[in-house]
Amino acid sequence: MTDNKACEYCTIVAGERNAEILHDGEQLLVIAKDLALIPGQLTVLPKEHCTILEIVPEELLATAASTANKASTILFEQLGAQGTNILVQNGTGAGQKVPHFAMEVIPRREGDGLKLNWTPQTMGDDDLDITAAQLKEASDKILQQKFKKEEPQKEEVNISKEDYRLKALRRIP
Ligand SMILES: [Zn+2]
Repeated sequence: MTDNKACEYCTIVAGERNAEILHDGEQLLVIAKDLALIPGQLTVLPKEHCTILEIVPEELLATAASTANKASTILFEQLGAQGTNILVQNGTGAGQKVPHFAMEVIPRREGDGLKLNWTPQTMGDDDLDITAAQLKEASDKILQQKFKKEEPQKEEVNISKEDYRLKALRRIP
């Protein structure tokens, strides 16, 4: 299942690098890494080497999301977390360091000192209109591709999906 010896997460999956493995499932691991923002942070790690979110097969992504939800429950119940942040660093521009998709589940408490907050700025009408115009057409196309079950224009959909994945590949760290 693992195919990348240079990938830190693949070496964990292969058992060649130490990590606290809390759960070893068929498709993914739940681990506690030695490098974490706060004690109790869990990482949901698909065993398959998928570099970024867009490469992860839908079914695996659904399993990862469901597992992150369960990991969050564990943190609430066992560590008394008051909240959790579910974080995906998708692409180098978003701070992704290891080229292998993973979901971080971070336990939170009031006053824990973690600075994951950012202040949203109010978008002006122009900014909003321009952004919406830029994204609207692609949104219809891509959201239908990703989630629609029947694909009447199968050929066309597959080609544009490939094209989209190629674009996504440019973001691989
Ligand atoms: Zn990997």
